[in-house]
Amino acid sequence: MGAGQPNSGGSGEPGPVRLLGDGVAALMAVLRAAGREVIGPTVRDGAIVLRPLKRPDDLPRGWHDRQEAGLYRLDWEDRPTRFAHAAPAQGWKRVLHPPEACVGTAYRGGIASSAEGADAGPDGPCWAAPEASPPLRAFFGVRPCDLAALSVLDGILANPAAGYHDPAYARRRRDTLVVAADCASPAATCFCAGMGTGPGVGDSGFDVALTELVEGDAAVYLARAGSPAGAALLEAVEHRPASDAERAAATDQTVRATKAQTRALPADPRAILARATEHRHWADVAARCLACGTCTLACPTCFCATVEDATSLDGVTAARTRRWSSCFTEAFSYIHGGAVRGTRGARYRQWITHKLSAWYDQFGTSGCVGCGRCVTWCPVGIDITAEVAALSETRPSHRRRGPARRPVDGSATPRRRKDDPPAP
Ligand code: SF4
Ligand code: SF4
Repeated sequence: MGAGQPNSGGSGEPGPVRLLGDGVAALMAVLRAAGREVIGPTVRDGAIVLRPLKRPDDLPRGWHDRQEAGLYRLDWEDRPTRFAHAAPAQGWKRVLHPPEACVGTAYRGGIASSAEGADAGPDGPCWAAPEASPPLRAFFGVRPCDLAALSVLDGILANPAAGYHDPAYARRRRDTLVVAADCASPAATCFCAGMGTGPGVGDSGFDVALTELVEGDAAVYLARAGSPAGAALLEAVEHRPASDAERAAATDQTVRATKAQTRALPADPRAILARATEHRHWADVAARCLACGTCTLACPTCFCATVEDATSLDGVTAARTRRWSSCFTEAFSYIHGGAVRGTRGARYRQWITHKLSAWYDQFGTSGCVGCGRCVTWCPVGIDITAEVAALSETRPSHRRRGPARRPVDGSATPRRRKDDPPAP
């Protein structure tokens, strides 16, 4: 992705431009003609997911989502909008940091380390080399929260200056062009406004930013470039400077989307979590949590992975595969002698404390962008905003009324009282 030139239209106009005709179709045509695989939101299996788009009709025209804690539904109305949805079911990490990827294949007599770009071992070709040159791609219709998530992932997986570098991620990310879209229809689970990541696209992190407006029976699009590549893309489609009324409509739409958000994290979650290491509420969450790991898989910034080796039955090859992992599994914290985090309460505490606190220490930012996916897709509706709010409440300490219960890390024999909640 290019850099600089934020907030200008094509032709060097100082502000956004109005795309003429079907601007979205025109943009997609230019991207595809340039040999780019266009990936964006589309409807599949009752959800809006991210898939390669062949034509503008693949976008979710008329579809809008209802999201609540533990609930996701799609509804259709005869409306011209293509971006009237909140965060899709998947984040873009699925493309850049895939759920499963070959790291390299070892041959008897030598190793082909495809992560370093080699594609042949001394005794033959590597049959499972990952993409040394990934296809040119364009991400289309990226929500503002997901732009923020891309920035977080870039800082972790493509940041050699900080010592963090995943060559495969960096290769996929390097030439990807990003077309973002303002969010006009946040879901009930969204809290990007409070996190400062939406619902309007900011000033950086994209090549082109779109605003979808409805005029009568038609959707129209304002666009601004955020990079030289984005300016060149806008140059290739018909446009004119946006009018003052169109700019005002875009601003009003973002204000309405901001006011529509009802969820938010309490102020200063780091301080709340620092005070809450032994809070009773961990046991309450543990009694509900299934330890399924869905929250970490749905989260656009969770990047943890495990590595598995598999040897062929004839002993000639061994493939090393990286797969997404989750800190909610017991095996995730296994070291010799057992798992460090033996209870669900300990794992939830680890996850939320990492996202909202330790992430700042490690990477200088929040690990949460407020997309709400973990709230929507948790099968039992565990809600990160509500859990932090509960942790901020001062509750009677168990220590005041009797012997200590089992610490949340499960390291001591529990001594239960009659009114104890179920053990984590
Ligand atoms: S923690 Fe939840 S709300 Fe925050 S970025 Fe991850 S999935 Fe989205
Ligand atoms: S918080 Fe919800 S989604 Fe996450 S592991 Fe527990 S039950 Fe699964």
